[in-house]
Amino acid sequence: MAKVVVLGAGISGHTAVSYLSKALKKNHEVVMVSPNSNFQWLPSNIWVGVGLMTIDQVKFKLAPVYKKLGVDYKQAKAVSIHPEGNNENAKGFVKIEYVTEEEKGKEEIVTYDYLINATGPKLNFDATEGLGPHKFTQSVCTYDHAAHAWGKLQESLAKMENGERQTFVVGTGHALATCQGAAFEYILNIAFEIKKRNLMHLADLWWISNEYELGDFGMGGAYIKRNGYITPTKIFTESILKEYGIRWIKRAGVQKVEDGKIHYENLRGEYHTRDFDFAMLIPGFAGAGMKAFNKQNEDITSAVFVANGMMKVDADYTPKPYEEWSAKDWPSIYQSIKYDNIYAAGIAFAPPHGMSKPMQSPNGTKIFPTPPRTGMPSGVIGKIVAQNIIHAVKTGTMEHKHKASMAHMGAACIVSAGYGLFKGQAAVMTVNPIVPDWEKYPKWGRNINDTVGVVGTAGHWMKLFMHYMFLYKAKAKPFWWLIPE
Ligand SMILES: Cc1cc2nc3c(=O)[nH]c(=O)nc-3n(C[C@H](O)[C@H](O)[C@H](O)COP(=O)(O)OP(=O)(O)OC[C@H]3O[C@@H](n4cnc5c(N)ncnc54)[C@H](O)[C@@H]3O)c2cc1C
Repeated sequence: MAKVVVLGAGISGHTAVSYLSKALKKNHEVVMVSPNSNFQWLPSNIWVGVGLMTIDQVKFKLAPVYKKLGVDYKQAKAVSIHPEGNNENAKGFVKIEYVTEEEKGKEEIVTYDYLINATGPKLNFDATEGLGPHKFTQSVCTYDHAAHAWGKLQESLAKMENGERQTFVVGTGHALATCQGAAFEYILNIAFEIKKRNLMHLADLWWISNEYELGDFGMGGAYIKRNGYITPTKIFTESILKEYGIRWIKRAGVQKVEDGKIHYENLRGEYHTRDFDFAMLIPGFAGAGMKAFNKQNEDITSAVFVANGMMKVDADYTPKPYEEWSAKDWPSIYQSIKYDNIYAAGIAFAPPHGMSKPMQSPNGTKIFPTPPRTGMPSGVIGKIVAQNIIHAVKTGTMEHKHKASMAHMGAACIVSAGYGLFKGQAAVMTVNPIVPDWEKYPKWGRNINDTVGVVGTAGHWMKLFMHYMFLYKAKAKPFWWLIPE
């Protein structure tokens, strides 16, 4: 009997554990370790952040779903991994710490034959002084944060109803932050809500970003086919912001936030301050912060993880200049560089390098977006990692027939504003592949036939449809596996 342990019940880990249990639960053991008792459909947090959905509409309890799936669920967080075991345990194991009221702080050792690290991002608010919902800015990175942001947003809307002017700033809260797409969607939704209330004359809306040009989105930007023309995402994004009455600050590395003041440095090395009444800024991301130890209990964390805590996998991590970056550097099976039975799926894997060109101010501050790993690739990666483990468990051979390099995979991004069947509009962008491949596509970096941008109501319907479809799948309702990632 084999034992597969998954760490993290987010988009990637939950996808992986669902497929593992479907294929293995009869004869093998499948374990999930995750601290939050809920699954959350993160993309819909945007709607929570503007009061159009409640937190109960974007989350559900994991325990009943795992009971149905035959998954042994431990509501705990992984603290360290011990891939070689130790004197008491011949097998590799994970040390976990329970987080429930009743068992808070209780430690347990969970052995495994195969381990999937899908612990996603640590929201590193501490990397920017004054950042985050416990300090001066809002976040939509969890449903609690989004609900808190909506509370703050209502205060600003109420002031505007009383004739008071308000400044809204949304974007990246760290010089190397990623996830621009989520922030971009949020600012469009704020603008939509203000417009709906006929309060635009009292609003100053600002987009602040570490991107060199707007529309970079951490993917180095893209050329997209739109209405028969090839348009850079810079133009696409700027025209959407203009249409919504939003001004922008680009090439900005936020360094510190105080009550009502955002301090940032730009790529020219200048220091500026932007006043705000309401700000939602995405923090820097790091890995979950697990340590790794060998059989002798020596710390081998740096052999297993990169400095920010993300896991080293089958990528080419050789440091090289931007001009030499290649699509081939990106991993395709997400197997640990050091241990064959460990994998990292979703945001937990360390990318070989960025997609956006690294930039530095004359003061030496690095200001550019780090690469995103959005929901679709995270789900697909979770699935193929599970499929390869299932194959290894069933046949005893590790063949890795399933591959999913972000340099070969497409992704869709829907930035929707408004809510309901008739009151919304969305910008839909598809890119293929996610990582530009200038060798294969020397003209546009990507397959221009599949790299498309459209604005309209249809995309908005798709976003709504995706909300219900993916929650149906995540709840493991009948035939869930027929719904693609
Ligand atoms: C507001 C917002 C909107 C977004 N919108 C979109 C969108 O429209 N389209 C899109 O494609 N992507 C979107 N994304 C990105 C998408 O949500 C992420 O790419 C995706 O969630 C990454 O999946 P993951 O499984 O790697 O991480 P997560 O989904 O974050 O899951 C990580 C899991 O690991 C758990 N965990 C953390 N530490 C530990 C530990 N020590 N031990 C065990 N478990 C641990 C966490 O509790 C969590 O359950 C959005 C993101 C945000 C924040």
